[in-house]
Amino acid sequence: MSAGARRSVVTGGAGFIGSHLTEYLLDRGDHVVVVDDFSTGRRENLAALAEHPRLTVVEGSILDRDLLRGAMTGADRVFHLAAAVGVHLIIDEPLRSLRTNIHGTENVVDLAHELGLTMLLASTSEVYGKNTADRLDEGADRILGSPLLSRWTYAAAKGIDEAYAHAYWSSLGLPVTIVRLFNTVGPRQTGRYGMVLPRLVGQALRGEPMTVYGDGRQTRCFSFVGDIVPALVALVENPATHGLAVNLGGAEEVSILELAERIKHVTASESPIRLVPYADAYAPGYEDMRRRVPDNSLAGSLIGFVPRTRVDEIIRRVAGQPSRSATTMASR
Ligand code: UDP
Repeated sequence: MSAGARRSVVTGGAGFIGSHLTEYLLDRGDHVVVVDDFSTGRRENLAALAEHPRLTVVEGSILDRDLLRGAMTGADRVFHLAAAVGVHLIIDEPLRSLRTNIHGTENVVDLAHELGLTMLLASTSEVYGKNTADRLDEGADRILGSPLLSRWTYAAAKGIDEAYAHAYWSSLGLPVTIVRLFNTVGPRQTGRYGMVLPRLVGQALRGEPMTVYGDGRQTRCFSFVGDIVPALVALVENPATHGLAVNLGGAEEVSILELAERIKHVTASESPIRLVPYADAYAPGYEDMRRRVPDNSLAGSLIGFVPRTRVDEIIRRVAGQPSRSATTMASR
């Protein structure tokens, strides 16, 4: 290892955000150790980096503490992105969601403390639950449904993760930054486990009906992975963020119906838009978030974060169309 080069561990490094982060860190000169069990992470996400001299891939679960210890020993920092994610997966496999997202994170936080690493915990806007505030700031209340509804296991587990990370910071001095991601999207994201944008783009490109759940009037603020990845690194490198939770989300609020229409337009698809009742899409009693709008001002003041990529541009990139914007991830 060359003198001065940082060693970063990325859990979930073969996943959608993790693989983009791994690429970005390698471009910046880091040595990167990816830990992934390839359950939802995919080998092809790292295919372009397979021969990279500063990349090590460790195949295994974050529930395996010995494996994790081996991967984290000697590293400077850990970006903890490994998680069971996707509404369909969470509903189908609540136990996996709870075990991975609680015990896996407990392992990462505890080893980061023991081995002296700086840490970033990827959390989620789901922790705000059904709070439909105009702009959710980091102090906003969490409004969750019944713990017996499996759809809430993800939000519940991530809340525990944040509490763990925060307690390790306040009681033991762990330098940890918690980031709440709001619907991060971009190339390499799979629609298999939920994730509306790649699902609808895939349906549009294949000419299949585009499945919009509920009345389609629920809204989200999609953010582009190319805007988010540099912000993750800038945040963890700023000691003023340690002990904080920081929102990172998009600037444009769009309804899911409007998203489907924009995807149809951008991809010039003939697909019909089909409204699917929540009970058929997920499970009876499913509770959706009607609205989820981030207040990004804390990230703005800490690292100058501004979500730049517009929804139409994100759709073009996900659909594999030439970009209309000159900005690339590497240039930011
Ligand atoms: N959704 C949809 N069609 C799909 C998948 C999802 O209409 O094929 C809706 C989903 O019910 C939610 C929104 O799109 O209202 C965003 O869903 P996603 O699973 O991407 O993320 P969430 O914000 O729910 O975690």
